[in-house]
Amino acid sequence: MHTRLLHNDPQGLATAAAMLRAGGLVAFGTETVYGLGADAGNDTAVAAIYTAKGRPGINPLISHFASADAAFEQVEATPLARRLADRFWPGPLTMVLPRGTHCGISTIATAGLPTAAVRVPAGQTTQALLAACGFPVVAPSANPSGRVSPSDAQHVLAGLDGRIDAVLDCGPCRVGVESTIIDLSRDVPVLLRPGGITLEALEAACGMKLALPAGSNDARPTAPGQLSSHYAPGLPVRLDARSVTPDEALLAFGPPLPGSALVWNLSATGDLHEAAARLFAGLRFLDMEGHRRGLVGIAVQPVPGHGLGRAIRDRLIRAACPRP
Ligand code: AMP
Ligand code: MG
Repeated sequence: MHTRLLHNDPQGLATAAAMLRAGGLVAFGTETVYGLGADAGNDTAVAAIYTAKGRPGINPLISHFASADAAFEQVEATPLARRLADRFWPGPLTMVLPRGTHCGISTIATAGLPTAAVRVPAGQTTQALLAACGFPVVAPSANPSGRVSPSDAQHVLAGLDGRIDAVLDCGPCRVGVESTIIDLSRDVPVLLRPGGITLEALEAACGMKLALPAGSNDARPTAPGQLSSHYAPGLPVRLDARSVTPDEALLAFGPPLPGSALVWNLSATGDLHEAAARLFAGLRFLDMEGHRRGLVGIAVQPVPGHGLGRAIRDRLIRAACPRP
């Protein structure tokens, strides 16, 4: 299959929407990372996403919509869900809610669960694409399953060229880490994944503390065995480095540690927003360049666990996890 690179102009958008409508796979940039899009109501197209990514079928997908109204036609919205939609959509928040009676999302996308994950992403191009489609679009990160997420169009091609129909070039992603996922289908709201909306902001909007899944109630690395490997570069990752050796690459945060000749600074000033936006590009760069220079691993300086740091640490902990 030849993968087309579509430009961010009216013609590129129209082509992307037509391809999606015809059951094709088209990657596009959102404010979080690049997603691999398919018509959420088309079983064949949804199944093709799992094949293209090598994604386990038990891992459900998020459906994306142009508006909260469109999203809430597919799921049973609670008053809290509507409040969070008002506050955070369009934006990097995903809500898990019971499937509605007229839910048109493929059961393959929801992995047979009675719930569906929905989000209204921000960004002019993404919004225009979703509006042009007029149907829900599932869009997991546009990378082979388990590898580093893509934050620009070239990252997508590096992993999926020849396996998908097209990439719509939307430039680099503004936020840089995936959406925060909150499960609103149970008695109490549960944070399923830290992401672009901070836990602090979410708890303030909910007016209560959120339940955290076991093992994640702490922003520090827990026993590696509890965490599934994800976001994995080829080189091993060493967290919370206090020193670095010449045969290691360094992912720095703040003033860089001395000792490595290959450094990517997430943020020299310690700004967590800048660090999130530079995270996946940095892991990719250090992995590729470190491999070329024969280095043995990537050392990561400590990143604080508050605000966006919680999502950054979550990704780094999984990147450092022993590979299956
Ligand atoms: P991504 O891999 O970024 O597309 O995120 C998809 C993630 O959303 C999955 O790995 C699940 O953790 C979560 N998710 C999607 N749908 C559901 C659902 N119905 N119930 C619980 N979690 C879900
Ligand atoms: Mg992913």
